[in-house]
Amino acid sequence: MIKDGKFGKYGGIFVPELLIPALEELESAFLKYKDHSGFNKELNYYLQEFAGRPTPLYFASNLSKKLGCKIYLKREDLLHTGAHKINNTLGQGLLAKYMGKRRLIAETGAGQHGIATAAVGAMLKMPVDVYMGTEDIERQKLNVFRMEISGARVIPVDTGSKTLKDAINQAMRDWISNIKDTHYLIGSTVGPHPYPTMVKHFQSIIGEETKQQILEKEGKLPDAIMACVGGGSNSIGIFSAFIEDNVELIGVEGGGTGLSTDEHGATLCRGTNGILHGSLSRVLQDKDGQIKEAHSVSAGLDYPGVGPEHSHLKEIGRAQYVAITDPEALRGFQLLSKYEGIMPALESAHAIAYMEKYAKKPENKGKTIIVNLSGRGDKDMFLAAKLLGVET
Ligand SMILES: *Cc1c(COP(=O)(O)O)cnc(C)c1O
Repeated sequence: MIKDGKFGKYGGIFVPELLIPALEELESAFLKYKDHSGFNKELNYYLQEFAGRPTPLYFASNLSKKLGCKIYLKREDLLHTGAHKINNTLGQGLLAKYMGKRRLIAETGAGQHGIATAAVGAMLKMPVDVYMGTEDIERQKLNVFRMEISGARVIPVDTGSKTLKDAINQAMRDWISNIKDTHYLIGSTVGPHPYPTMVKHFQSIIGEETKQQILEKEGKLPDAIMACVGGGSNSIGIFSAFIEDNVELIGVEGGGTGLSTDEHGATLCRGTNGILHGSLSRVLQDKDGQIKEAHSVSAGLDYPGVGPEHSHLKEIGRAQYVAITDPEALRGFQLLSKYEGIMPALESAHAIAYMEKYAKKPENKGKTIIVNLSGRGDKDMFLAAKLLGVET
């Protein structure tokens, strides 16, 4: 066991006894293959040729001039399927194949993780079943089509709130019944050990590339790195290479409308310690421990939990977490589109919006800032137009 899968007091394994053998098998396979040259050679091939790595570290010259800082964007938005998620789905999909598994299951809220898993399943010729709440299916019909056209089966979940947390329960149940031939592909640094450690490993390529690229371009490390936080995978991916360095690390959460003081969103900023999806972390819950629904304009940040390592980094003060409201994120979306010709995903637009606030503080003038652009905005165009009052 990797320190029992704990980050300080957070993380661990809180699942039904029946799942323990599957988690142990997964952990030992992960430990066996993560430094295996054949596995890494094949994974690197797919990361390059299928997903499009390495991604550029782009100097945003117009915004830099406007804001008086040096602003760089790590362009995960340029990857196949439109976001960083493919780094992890390729890693876990290939690991499942090396483990002799023949089937992938996943759960999805907005559909982004389902799409990335469906793409990898098609490429690796593994059948994919994606659990999705009926409420989400109704809201995300186009994404359901995108999964199905890649050969995945979308299984509707009609229990509870009919959204992500119910889909997760169903996926866990499926895994318990089909442990022998099935891998459960979790999409972020959440869930029981070894998932938070494993997903971080597969996303750490973002930070490794970024470090090399900024040293080539600037000859020194940046002052600050910012990334949006849903479950926490793109942020931990870019933070991971800089944790030992003297670099400010800032995670940006979805703060919801910002109109209500009882807003459900921003797990690290507003949550309390609790157990969700098999590990101990910060959770949005009421006084009786009932999980609250999260609300954010961006579906990818709409999650009532967060990866346990972030709870730890916050507690020890190594990373800082802030919340950005829906209207602020929309402004970030417009800002990057207008000044740089790059339309960010609404999730990533939260990090852009905070970057602007940060850059405007007098004490931060002239600093070098890297924003992880986790995904592209194509998926959000209709919503953005609607929010801006434009008819499409
Ligand atoms: C899913 C998603 C996120 C949130 O997930 P993390 O695990 O926190 O990275 C952020 N940005 C985009 C574009 C996404 O698709």
